[in-house]
Amino acid sequence: MILTLSSRALLTALDREHPEWRPLLAVVEEAMREAQRPDWARVVPTPGHSGEGGRPLLDGAVISVAPRLVRRWLRRILGIAASAGTDVRPLATAMAARRVDPLVVLETAVSQDVSRLDHLARTLDDDRGVLRGLAPLIARPVLQACRRAWTSRVPEIWAWGHCPICGGWPAVAEIRGLGGSRHLRCGACGSDWRTEWLRCSFCGQDDHEQLGSLASAESLAREAIAVCDGCNGYVKTITTLAPIRPEHVILQDLGSCVLDVVALERGYRRPPATGRGVAVSIVVTRSRLRDVLGLRP
Ligand SMILES: [Zn+2]
Ligand SMILES: [Zn+2]
Repeated sequence: MILTLSSRALLTALDREHPEWRPLLAVVEEAMREAQRPDWARVVPTPGHSGEGGRPLLDGAVISVAPRLVRRWLRRILGIAASAGTDVRPLATAMAARRVDPLVVLETAVSQDVSRLDHLARTLDDDRGVLRGLAPLIARPVLQACRRAWTSRVPEIWAWGHCPICGGWPAVAEIRGLGGSRHLRCGACGSDWRTEWLRCSFCGQDDHEQLGSLASAESLAREAIAVCDGCNGYVKTITTLAPIRPEHVILQDLGSCVLDVVALERGYRRPPATGRGVAVSIVVTRSRLRDVLGLRP
């Protein structure tokens, strides 16, 4: 799969500005490329509900995949990470020795469940946080495919701070177009939902005395940080003329890291866990040929 010219230009610009990020950018690029494969579009199920009560569409999903697709993807991302200089040996060894089911790794990553990820990492002797770091990228092909298929199913009014597709917290907020509408953007699946100006995405705080805005000396006038003194959360805010492409939200998030530094220096944090937990089951797809032959998947 070939990346679009604009994706390539953004990756090249990030690489030039932050050569120390090269190991990370190598796996981000590979995950962007993998998410374009049509194989992943075929695993997206029909959502079992309509998102009532702020329930992300992914919650309760049963996703059937061919194990070879997952095995190939995990081998590929671990290989790219290793060649870029990341020590992935505990994970790669466990995979090669079949001590871990690739479907369990994918399911845990797609669920974005931090405690489950940490538990899995401990069982694999991954004490450097490699699985935790790679999980959003491992999950990316599934999450992006779900977003592509389900965008029209997102309720028109989504008053919640978490993503209507995957339940993640927003990576950035966009102040868009001449009208200046405010949209939250999910870095994991790329989704886009409109939100109120004066409301904290994380705790729902709407007391204007608890909400504020920061900017850094180096940031452009089009960038700021919306902060909440109720929960100490922050979300980076970028003014745009046209919507950020869904697959580029992750790159915009990385490219605006100067804002993260400012927010962290002032004592604000991104919440560590995902916005609304989702329960997802990844199961082996049923092969009609295997059924006929009576073979186990
Ligand atoms: Zn999402
Ligand atoms: Zn808050």
